[in-house]
Amino acid sequence: MPSSLYSDLRMRYVIIGNGVAGATAAMTLRKRDETASITMISGESDYFFSRTALMYAYMDRMTLRDLEPFERNVWDKQAIRRVRGWVRDINAGGVTLESGESIPYDRLLLATGAQPNRPSWEGVDHASSGFVHFVSLQDLDQCERLTQPAGKAIVVGGGLIGVELVECLAHHGMDVTFLILEPWYWPVAMATESMPFMMPLLCVAARYGSAEAKRDAWTMPSAMSSPPMSKSASAGTGMRQEARARRRSARFDRMRR
Ligand SMILES: Cc1cc2nc3c(=O)[nH]c(=O)nc-3n(C[C@H](O)[C@H](O)[C@H](O)COP(=O)(O)OP(=O)(O)OC[C@H]3O[C@@H](n4cnc5c(N)ncnc54)[C@H](O)[C@@H]3O)c2cc1C
Repeated sequence: MPSSLYSDLRMRYVIIGNGVAGATAAMTLRKRDETASITMISGESDYFFSRTALMYAYMDRMTLRDLEPFERNVWDKQAIRRVRGWVRDINAGGVTLESGESIPYDRLLLATGAQPNRPSWEGVDHASSGFVHFVSLQDLDQCERLTQPAGKAIVVGGGLIGVELVECLAHHGMDVTFLILEPWYWPVAMATESMPFMMPLLCVAARYGSAEAKRDAWTMPSAMSSPPMSKSASAGTGMRQEARARRRSARFDRMRR
């Protein structure tokens, strides 16, 4: 078959997102189809990096390059084209980047991850210069710019990311106040029954935080007598469901823009 005709028949896959989902999809597609055209687009970074290790970069234990699980040339070797840019529009045959560039596709995969929940509290907009999430490389950059030894920080949200952020800020000598909705932090992972075993560890962790954090950690056993799903926790579940729905709808809105 003449090579020009052959190349016209290749399936064109476009993947939006180069996180673990997008990168795994690209490599799996390549294994299944040696000739396909595969393009992976990301607005955040040139290369797939491990988001789960973001805290180690913040604590200067790893460089940004260390966060990349693969050698950079692996993508060229597998003929996976990387495109840096935010997708602003999708139509039946192609995606358009903010730069105006258009990329055609036969098959499109959205591997765009999740969006952090930005609460609509009164006053949040006025606090925007010191108000950050801890999800993306851009967030890391902003967190690093705002980090001041002996400065004060408030972390809202007692999930895994909140816990990690507290650890990072405490590592940099900041005085951290940790606001959580549930009776204890990281409730998804820590069941009521596990608290007696976890308490000594929590108290050790609190030594690195503020005096208030240490005091709160020591007063936490009282929360252990709460029923597994307290009123505040079930309110939290409802709020999380709402937040999830909002994030989903925000993501689709963003993709339509
Ligand atoms: C600090 C932190 C710690 C975590 N720790 C853990 C952990 O210990 N264990 C665990 O299991 N999970 C952890 N997670 C969650 C885990 O990182 C995510 O579940 C995982 O990254 C999701 O992968 P993904 O590929 O679906 O999306 P993502 O990693 O979010 O990647 C999506 C990509 O799509 C790109 N994108 C989105 N929209 C567009 C657009 N319009 N145009 C172009 N590009 C776009 C984004 O820039 C991003 O690069 C952690 C998350 C964070 C933030």
